[in-house]
Amino acid sequence: MEPEARQRYLRTLPAVDELLHRPPIQSLLKSHSRPLVVDSIRKVLGEKRRAILQGGTEEAAATAGLTPDQWTEAVKREVAAVFRPSLRPVINATGVVLHTNLGRAPLSAEALRNLVEIAGGYSNLEFNLETGDRGSRYEHVEEVLCRVSGAESGLVVNNNAGAVFLALNTLAEGKEVIVSRGQLVEIGGSFRVPDVMRKSGARLVEVGTTNRTHLRDYEQAITGETGLLLKVHTSNFRILGFTAEVPLKELAALGEARGIPVMEDLGSGCFIDLSPYGIEHEPTVQETLRAGVDVVTFSGDKLLGGPQAGLILGKKKYIDRIKKNPLNRALRIDKLTLAALESTLKVYLEPADAVKTLPALAMLTCPEEEVKKRAGRFRRKLSQDLPGDFKVTLRADSSQVGGGALPLQVLPTWVVAIRPSTLAAASLEERLRKSDPPVIARVKEEEVLLDLRTVAEEEEDALLGAVKKVSGNAECGGRNAE
Ligand SMILES: *Cc1c(COP(=O)(O)O)cnc(C)c1O
Repeated sequence: MEPEARQRYLRTLPAVDELLHRPPIQSLLKSHSRPLVVDSIRKVLGEKRRAILQGGTEEAAATAGLTPDQWTEAVKREVAAVFRPSLRPVINATGVVLHTNLGRAPLSAEALRNLVEIAGGYSNLEFNLETGDRGSRYEHVEEVLCRVSGAESGLVVNNNAGAVFLALNTLAEGKEVIVSRGQLVEIGGSFRVPDVMRKSGARLVEVGTTNRTHLRDYEQAITGETGLLLKVHTSNFRILGFTAEVPLKELAALGEARGIPVMEDLGSGCFIDLSPYGIEHEPTVQETLRAGVDVVTFSGDKLLGGPQAGLILGKKKYIDRIKKNPLNRALRIDKLTLAALESTLKVYLEPADAVKTLPALAMLTCPEEEVKKRAGRFRRKLSQDLPGDFKVTLRADSSQVGGGALPLQVLPTWVVAIRPSTLAAASLEERLRKSDPPVIARVKEEEVLLDLRTVAEEEEDALLGAVKKVSGNAECGGRNAE
């Protein structure tokens, strides 16, 4: 396209003031502030200018040909967009239960109720109602934590990365921390055990090899400088074959004999054994403490099924030191999290209820047959409503635990597989992702898979509506459109 033509088109763009004085924009100013409206006008003008300068011939011409109504509509849409939440609910049809990018564990109804109540008013967050004196925010959960886990003492911070950092800094700043080479893990989102350790001021002493580490490796590495023996639960990967890890009990005994604290970062700590539900045995928090470790750290929003938080449990003499670390103030848990966490922890006072009450555990332990029944019902409804060029089938597949927990666990599931014939599966996935509410689904071999394991029953109608809506206008974007 010739530069002169672009210049000519550019001259058709209205001025900010001109748009501002149009009646629809004037009425917009009755409900919105002038700077906000002016900003929106500038943004729209900027986009249109770019379309003329960089767009193809057709796009540039179309932009120059916008009617006054189209201009004001664009500005109104821009103003509305400013108020549309960026963080919003999505339907997770991926079957990944603790999906880190989708917010990990959904909260229980009781945790939600408590969170809303605490959030909307004042509370005794740091106020002792008995004495009228200043209280501690940590007291609200310490007793239930100790009761459920059997720990002497405990505290909670912002997340488990913070918990590990704080514990290392308290127990081993300027000292050596001995850890097995097989446990120097990276958790998604760039949390790497060696990096966190360095930042905490501890000096990493690696022992053993990637696949095998023995008790004598730890023994030989202990010096006068040793501050901590650390075990990291390799929650997000497995080393198989010729392997050896030192059992926690032996490591704890070694620490005890040498007067060196022993800590385990459990990652996704769990209070109940899920193996009766067909889920691979994960060391529970209680087992870990019983093995004799001094300190254990884990997440609130992984297998625990609560809000993002880092839990630190263990022997009182170490927990007391951690509580007094000034860094604790920088990592402290907020009242909303605390409210949701307290409710979540109380569920474990009656452990048999936990797999029903906590959504993440309910989804993980939902029997295959039940998922199949729901998926079958959903498939029938969907195939009645979808155009003929969408083939909908019920198919066996597997869900995942997610959250860097139980990487090898296969959760048998049944998915509703949609195969569009006039559209690429990837574009159906994209349309679902961009619908309202957004639906996040998997694509596998030219099919879009919907796994109802992670879709709440209350969300089924919305999911059905979203799929119907995006497949209704399949003609407007064929395979070539991608
Ligand atoms: C997930 C995980 C962490 C980080 O926990 P966050 O709560 O996400 O900060 C640390 N260590 C291990 C072993 C983990 O699995």
